[in-house]
Amino acid sequence: MTRAYFSLGTNLGDRGAFLALGVSIMSAAEPHRVSRVYNGEPVGGVVQDDFWNLVLEVTTSATPYELLERVAEAETAAQRTRDIHWGPRTLDVDIIWIDGVNCDEPQLTVPHPRMLERNFVLVPLRELREDLVSDEDLRRAEGRVDVVGTLETLH
Ligand code: AMP
Repeated sequence: MTRAYFSLGTNLGDRGAFLALGVSIMSAAEPHRVSRVYNGEPVGGVVQDDFWNLVLEVTTSATPYELLERVAEAETAAQRTRDIHWGPRTLDVDIIWIDGVNCDEPQLTVPHPRMLERNFVLVPLRELREDLVSDEDLRRAEGRVDVVGTLETLH
């Protein structure tokens, strides 16, 4: 068993419903915890609505590549399309950290290479794993995030 951490984000349609769908597919009935939900301004330069983001922790027996298959399953279930690079999406799921795993392949890079740049990843991750995010990391990361509630209250 290991603990894996996923960043889930959405800025199209019923954002609470897409986050709930993503949590359900990514956790696959294994033990899990979720951070609060944060509203985050888009990063990357495309003009679009704000995102709702959360971080999910799953205690899992799945391999990293099996988790990557779950990511594709969750994004497909949310009818994700890829029209604009870094543009609006119903559901984006990234594997950000897996305890004890270092993987540097194009199909799967863990820890996620950009996790330290983004407050929408670091702030919710810190709620679940304070040891993984330092004050210095938070000072360096970009993008404003504010709590909007919990998955239960928003869905
Ligand atoms: P995107 O559509 O921008 O989320 O990129 C998805 C692609 O990134 C997929 O082809 C994945 O195989 C690849 N990828 C590499 N590392 C990761 C990761 N840590 N989490 C999710 N996808 C990843």
